[in-house]
Amino acid sequence: MSNRAAARFGGVQKSATYAVFDMVAQMRAQGVEVLDLGGGEPDFDTPAHVVDEAVNALRDGFTHYTPSRGLPDLLDAIATKLAKDNGITVDPATDVIVTPSAKHALFAALVTVLDPGDELLVPTPSWVSYTAMARLIGALPVQIALDGANGFRITRELLEEHVSPRTKALLVNSPNNPTGHCLTHDEARAISRFAAEHDILLISDEIYEKIVYDGREHLSLGALACCADRTITVNGFSKGYAMTGWRLGYAAGPTDLMAQMLKVQQHTVGCTGSFVQRGGIAALTGAQEPVREMVEQYARRRALVVRELDSLPGVACSAPDGAFYAFADIRGTGFADAASFAQWVLERTGVALMPGSAFGPGGEGFVRLSFATSPEVLRAACERIGRALAERA
Ligand code: PMP
Ligand code: GLU
Repeated sequence: MSNRAAARFGGVQKSATYAVFDMVAQMRAQGVEVLDLGGGEPDFDTPAHVVDEAVNALRDGFTHYTPSRGLPDLLDAIATKLAKDNGITVDPATDVIVTPSAKHALFAALVTVLDPGDELLVPTPSWVSYTAMARLIGALPVQIALDGANGFRITRELLEEHVSPRTKALLVNSPNNPTGHCLTHDEARAISRFAAEHDILLISDEIYEKIVYDGREHLSLGALACCADRTITVNGFSKGYAMTGWRLGYAAGPTDLMAQMLKVQQHTVGCTGSFVQRGGIAALTGAQEPVREMVEQYARRRALVVRELDSLPGVACSAPDGAFYAFADIRGTGFADAASFAQWVLERTGVALMPGSAFGPGGEGFVRLSFATSPEVLRAACERIGRALAERA
């Protein structure tokens, strides 16, 4: 049969992270034991007070549509959080939209700002879905390979090399998936000057904001005076509050853009789940202790996995600033590329991980291991990889 789907799909691959989720599920269904360091998902349960609030909402019959933008109390809580945590000033009545997932917020934001043929700058390594989303809209992702030797920093030079008259927006993700890198003041300054000079919009994906280590400061581009009017900030509850299955996120930005984005929301999902939003209010306004406890555990796992990986022959791994991924340089192992390393590790050891090349040209030669899993699994996975590498030598 000829290809009946839209031509836009020509350059769109299935999600590499979902491919790993599916493969692990399939192998387990066949009775194969897999140590899963592939897909990035907190292994913690959602904090109990958040669950209670949503369950009570359901029991109280809170099962109807909400305003498309979101529940007013949640919009207020998000605006308060953005002011307090991020230094971003927004009007909850006009500048915030609650979305079913940060993923949807990103897609809606890209639909809002990109015309077919527009270019979206995407520094890589970057999360797998940005480029696919741009292509689904008929826009062109322009991937910028960042240099691992420079800590995967975004530089003015690299941005200038890739900008064109069709460049409409730049997508920045900090803390970064997969590298864990957190934006520095120098990078934020370079980005803001670049954006102002070329009149480029910024989409700032801050979903790992809560998960930072060693007292690292999280910087929000939307807080910079020169960026406030050109930045859509995207965030969500999946990572910080361990709420992946809830599908709850939000976007905040300039009033004119958010007015257009509301049309995307109204004509696609309508609104986010009513009781899910009630859970979101509890997450933002309730005790933050569960978040701190999860981050403490991630910090311990980070120390463990970085130490173990860095000691393996041919592997170099530095500690990420944030998120819950170790991004290890495997170029010293002698494998042709990251995909063949990941495939070999899975077959030889039953450890699932992500090849860095799935995250764009900047990720080749690296692999991503999620440490959002138990220390026992992390230790066993590193031991198995170490043994297999030693046997191969
Ligand atoms: N951005 C990044 C960088 C991510 O890793 C994820 C996790 N899948 C998302 C956005 C989307 O998060 P969610 O859709 O679960 O809110
Ligand atoms: N963000 C996670 C990851 O990178 C979850 C999967 C996805 O949504 O892509 O593995």
